[in-house]
Parts: sequence; C-alpha cells; structure tokens
Amino acid sequence: QAAPDAERITMKRINVSEVSETEVETALRRPSQKSAETIMGIVTPIINDVRQNGDKALLSYTHKFEKATSLTSPVIKAPFPQELMNLAPETIKAIDISFENIRKFHAAQKEEKPLQVETMPGVVCSRFSRPIERVGLYVPGGTAVLPSTALMLGVPAMVAGCKKIVLASPPRADGSITPEIVYVAHKVGAESIVLAGGAQAVAAMAYGTESVSKVDKILGPGNQFVTAAKMYVSNDTNAGVSIDMPAGPSEVLVIADKDANPAFVASDLLSQAEHGVDSQVICIAVGLDEAHLQGIENEVHKQAMALPRVDIIRGAISHSVTILVKDVDEAMRISNAYAPEHLILQIKDPEKAVEKVMNAGSVFIGQWTPESVGDYSAGVNHSLPTYGYAKQYSGVNLGSFVKHITSSNLTAEGLKNVGSAVMQLAKVEELEAHRRAVEIRLSTLAA
Ligand code: NAD
Repeated sequence: QAAPDAERITMKRINVSEVSETEVETALRRPSQKSAETIMGIVTPIINDVRQNGDKALLSYTHKFEKATSLTSPVIKAPFPQELMNLAPETIKAIDISFENIRKFHAAQKEEKPLQVETMPGVVCSRFSRPIERVGLYVPGGTAVLPSTALMLGVPAMVAGCKKIVLASPPRADGSITPEIVYVAHKVGAESIVLAGGAQAVAAMAYGTESVSKVDKILGPGNQFVTAAKMYVSNDTNAGVSIDMPAGPSEVLVIADKDANPAFVASDLLSQAEHGVDSQVICIAVGLDEAHLQGIENEVHKQAMALPRVDIIRGAISHSVTILVKDVDEAMRISNAYAPEHLILQIKDPEKAVEKVMNAGSVFIGQWTPESVGDYSAGVNHSLPTYGYAKQYSGVNLGSFVKHITSSNLTAEGLKNVGSAVMQLAKVEELEAHRRAVEIRLSTLAA
C-alpha cells in the first residue's frame, strides 16, 4: 500500500534538460551550517578556559556536555587495563581484519627512498619524509560510537612512525569509554586517551594540560564545534599545531544507470543519510526511465522505514535530490562540480568513468562495492573531505602524518654552475648578504 505523500520518504527530482544551471546548483547546495561567527563565539571561551585552567576546566566541560559527573581524571594512560577492552570475539576479529587491511594499504604508501634529482651538474636536490612526532586523534562520540574512526586515524599514525599518539573521545555518561576504542588505542600503541570531546578536547591537545600531552597536529572528524576549534587552534601561533582539513557532515553521490540495481542504489543513499539530519545524499540518474526511477524511490522509502535511524534519514532526505542526466559525461561534470566526499559508480564500465573523476574524497567502483566497505574494512581511509573541500584537500592518508624535508647538496662545480643565477636574483631583490654568500665562495674557488 502506497504511503501518504506527507509520510513518504522521497528525494526531490530535477531533470537537467528542463531547468537552468542555477537551479541545478541550488538543488546541490549543502544544508547551511551555523555561521562561523556564531560557532566561534561558542568555542572561543571554551578554548581559552581550557588553556588557562587546564584539567579543571576540561573536566567541568565533560561533566556539562557528556553528563559524566563522576569522572575525576580526564586521561587514561597506556598500558590500558584489560578490563577496559573486554569485547566479544567476533568484534575483536572484525577490528583485527580491518586493522590489517588499513595497515597494508597505508604501509604501501610509504616512500621507499628519498627523491633525488641532479638539476644541474653538481647540484643535487633531495626530498625525504619524517613522521610528525606527536599527533592528536579526535574520535567523535556525541551521537554514535565510532571505533572505525579510531582505526582510520590510529593505524596510519602508527605506520608513519609518530612517536606519541594521543586519542580523544567523549566518554559515556557513566564516565567510561567504549571498549572498542580502547582496544584500537592499544593496538596502535597510543600513549593516552583523553576522555573529552568537542572544543575542550581540541584545546587540551593543542595547548596541553597537566595531564594531557600537547601535540603537533590534530586530525579527525567531528561536529561544528570540533571543526571550529580545530580551525581556531591552527590559526593560533602560540599553539603551534596544524590540522588535517575542515570537516562537515557526511555525504554521498551515487551515479546510477539502467544497469544499476535499484535496491543497491537505495541502500547506498541511506547508508549516508543515516549519519545525521545535516547529511546530504545525491543520486545522479543516467538516462533512467520512469519505471527505474520509481524503483529506486520505492526502495528508498521501503528500506528507510525499516531502519532504526529513520527519523535522522527523514531529515537528511529532505535536502537531498535525484538529478536526471542524459549521459555519463554530464553526470561526471555535475559530480566534479559538487566534489562529493564519497562517489559511488553503479554504471556500466565504472572503471572507465574513474578516469573522468576530478574531485571526490573516495570512489566506490561497481555494484559490488558499497561505500560501507570503505567506512570500515577494505583498507582505504574514511576520514575524507566534505562540503566540497574534495576540490582542494585529500582524505587522511599516510602523508597526513609525515612532513617532507628537502635538502640541497652542491659540489664546487655545482656552485660554479648555479652561482651567477643566484647572485643576479639576489641583486634584483637587493639582498646583498645573499649575493655575497655565493660570491665569497666563488672567489675562494678562483684563488
Ligand atoms: P562529536 O564528538 O563531534 O561532538 C560531541 C561534542 O560536541 C561534545 O563533547 C560537546 O563538547 C560538543 N557540543 C555539543 N553541543 C555543544 C554546544 N551546544 N556547545 C558547545 N559544544 C557542544 O560528536 P557528534 O556531535 O556526534 O558529531 C560527529 C560528526 O562527525 C558528525 O557530523 C559525523 O557526520 C561526523 N563524522 C564524519 C566522518 C568523516 O570522515 N567525514 C567520520 C565520522 C563522523
């Protein structure tokens, strides 16, 4: 029996051949977030308080936001007690399988040897990488338990060789932390777990407190408060901390053609829609007829109604859209302009279409690759750029945990070859000491 229109969970539809470019852009606009000023106005006093009052302030926010009023210490240090990681054998197995796949894929990203180029005879330039020494990994915990995020951040940090790994995650109301997160922290060799969330956790890791170790870089997704706090501390030269990327609500774009199974398409759309009411899911339908479109819409409604998070899905679907296009090229043009966090290709020859992907966080190729495999266990990272930032940011990867250092090594011959160019440019810039640093050596060589 068909659901009454008001109750039906359905995405609006637009056909690109019937609307203007602006209408397509409007339909693809991400749900608006609280303004930067509003959020900064909330997080700045929290950050300053933690910076000035350390553990005492950190604990007071955990008591307030997490209702964990019995908590008396904001940190658990390694080695973590076994009783904090009691897990069902099937959960241990699942974490171990995922850990190993993520480890393999990120270990393969290691650079075997330094890059070395002789740009002129006797002028050798090199580039080599070193791990960032201390990293702070934020594992969200407000509305869902996310040990998978602990894996996605912790495993590459371990593979990169970061000396100090600090995890932060909001505790439960009884003051405890999810045992899965403790188990992952143990496996990646974390130094400590900070039992705090939001701006206060970010501030504690950025500046350090009596019991929280200061870090050099903070990575990990989170809500608007977490993101704003990360932006704030990374702009404060007193903190001396960098961040991975700005983060926003999760999103997916599925490109489906007539070969796509409507039930699979709907399940992928819903797996992102259940993240939060501010998530957005987009379906680009390539040359689909009315029957196929309705098939997907019916599946979205039917499957959503059977999900525990149906109310969240209803919110996300209200600002989601199906876009009808004539061919894959048109679909890819729209997808590249949207720059989705997750891009799923349920089309004929999906591998061929990958060549046309210019902006996306992570791509899921073909009907047997649901996005959930990338969220948990395939090996790719799930900490990805959202909100269109896939245009300029990569997702978290091994490179997020290392710095590249360059070196130059010249022979006397090399200095003779490049010296006149250096001296002339130094002269143009009127930096005489620069010019003389070369001249003094060339004179010595000439003598
Ligand atoms: P969270 O851990 O990010 O935030 C919880 C914290 O928010 C609390 O500890 C509290 O300090 C703070 N907070 C809540 N209300 C506040 C208020 N009114 N004022 C000040 N601070 C306040 O957990 P969450 O809220 O569940 O958000 C998790 C987010 O992470 C979601 O948006 C989810 O989509 C996203 N996520 C993204 C990815 C990705 O890879 N992009 C992966 C996992 C999760």
